Amino acid sequence: MIQGIGAAAGVAIGRAFVLPAWEWDVPDRRMETIDLSKEFERLHEGIRTSKHEIEEIKNEIKEMVGTEESTIFDAHLAILEDPVFMSEIRGIIERQYKAAEVAVKEAIDHFVTMFDLLDDEYMKERALDIKDVGNRLLKHLLGTPDITLPADTQPYILVAKELSPSQLVHLNPNNVLGMVTMIGGKTSHSAIMARALGIPLVSGLEQKMDQTIQTGDLLILDGDAGSLFIDPDKETVKKYTLVLEKQRRRKEQLQLLAAEEAITPDGARFHLAGNISSQKEFELAVKHGAQGVGLFRTEFLYMDRAELPTEEEQYEVYRKVAEKAGNHPVVIRTLDIGGDKQLEYFPLPEEDNPFLGYRAIRISLDRQDMFKTQLAAILRASAHGRVKIMYPMISSLEELRAANEILHEVMQDLGKRGLSYDSNIPVGIMIEVPAAAALADLLAEEADFFSIGTNDLVQYVLAVDRMNEKIAHMYHPYHPAVLRLLRTAVQAANQAGIPVSVCGEMAGDERSIPLWLHLGVNSLSMSPQALLRIKHRILHTEASHARSVGQECFVMKTSAEIEELLNQYAASLHHEDTVPHRSAAH
Ligand code: PEP
Ligand code: MG
Repeated sequence: MIQGIGAAAGVAIGRAFVLPAWEWDVPDRRMETIDLSKEFERLHEGIRTSKHEIEEIKNEIKEMVGTEESTIFDAHLAILEDPVFMSEIRGIIERQYKAAEVAVKEAIDHFVTMFDLLDDEYMKERALDIKDVGNRLLKHLLGTPDITLPADTQPYILVAKELSPSQLVHLNPNNVLGMVTMIGGKTSHSAIMARALGIPLVSGLEQKMDQTIQTGDLLILDGDAGSLFIDPDKETVKKYTLVLEKQRRRKEQLQLLAAEEAITPDGARFHLAGNISSQKEFELAVKHGAQGVGLFRTEFLYMDRAELPTEEEQYEVYRKVAEKAGNHPVVIRTLDIGGDKQLEYFPLPEEDNPFLGYRAIRISLDRQDMFKTQLAAILRASAHGRVKIMYPMISSLEELRAANEILHEVMQDLGKRGLSYDSNIPVGIMIEVPAAAALADLLAEEADFFSIGTNDLVQYVLAVDRMNEKIAHMYHPYHPAVLRLLRTAVQAANQAGIPVSVCGEMAGDERSIPLWLHLGVNSLSMSPQALLRIKHRILHTEASHARSVGQECFVMKTSAEIEELLNQYAASLHHEDTVPHRSAAH
């Protein structure tokens, strides 16, 4: 077994197809002075063709996995227009009299080596982008044909040194059982696309391989554990065939619940919505029975591109989701960058404590131009469905009021532009900073709804950085202090008569169901992958009993005791392999 990085979840068993290394052999050709202008013309022609090809791929991928993934190619187009990259190429042609392809190859090598040397995962990933674009340009300069993948009839596991988004776009996801790459990690564009396509991916195997993989080898990969088996023994094949079969059966069984209501046997009803960051994820949420969107993380629309998305671009995406959600609500959260989420073209200052720094609503209130563009796009989409606006990281009434003031200005502007929107659009806030929980009664008077973001709430109230592996064991969602803040927020919302839901990771953890029942939370929003699992659990939970378990948690004094009780209760309800009881009606 070889241990790599699990970059996209799932298990795959199949034969390898090894992609030949996509590195062109470029003869070091120099020319006479007289040929210089011809070489520039060849270079420009190559750039034009490459750009055209990238645009086409971009459109193709937009169809396939959605707008957000297609914006990866905006970054590629930007490289072909990058003055530093281009002047490096021109300089080599001009000063060293080298052929265009030689200059391109040398410029790629120069930048890739430079980025690779940096101890920064993000820059290493950008080196892959430069290689990808550079190789495309080389292909046109050298006239080399594209690599042909196996015929569409035999599913395979794709093995490559590294995979670029341009290569991935040509894959038929139905034929690719899984992917293995030597280079790349969880944040590579290819990993993002693999997850969106639902293809298991193990990467980061370079220097871990003691044998090579040949086309035709039998492989097993486990995208959850990050493990790879080459020519596995019979026992391993048997073990993983069972895992695959079990996964498939469980998926099928759960899928039967998609159209069911999430209601306990004794009648406690839940509203289950999806957390999404793209149209593709929205479709997955719908397939898994989501009743709308409880959290649209819009920052992903701003990522993997060269500049801020325009009002029109954002409106297009929000409108499509709102329309497709029909009568279900779509909660669109305004931009939540900072902390661990950065934008390439909008550099944020180096901060000692980025999670306590320039983040989320703080940036929006500071950069009102960006905020107004986004609010206009969301408002315009509200004319096409049940759209709600949500502000992230609110910590005071002043912030909520300031954001609402800007919102009203944008509403007036839209009126002047003759554009329609829902003038009664509900405007809510995330409860994810302890200050907001403490002020929940006051905030509830001025917000239309609350959504509790437990991911940040836990890190802030416990002072445990959610990104720091060293203290990960101290990140306790079931800490008594967290529970008390949840109770304060929910009680304030109930008292004020405004809806409250939970959209942090806790919502997708079945162990927390007794807490929601006890507190009276009946609206949850979670990753599309968690929806059916949670619904299944709700269908098997006696609310009256679970409520008393939830109540007991509030008497307990330590995280360990609370977790132990919830684990025991969850284990007592283990229905892993039973056919869901309501599916018979369908
Ligand atoms: C949260 O903090 O719980 C949340 C849902 O937001 P994010 O994970 O995007 O910070
Ligand atoms: Mg958050």
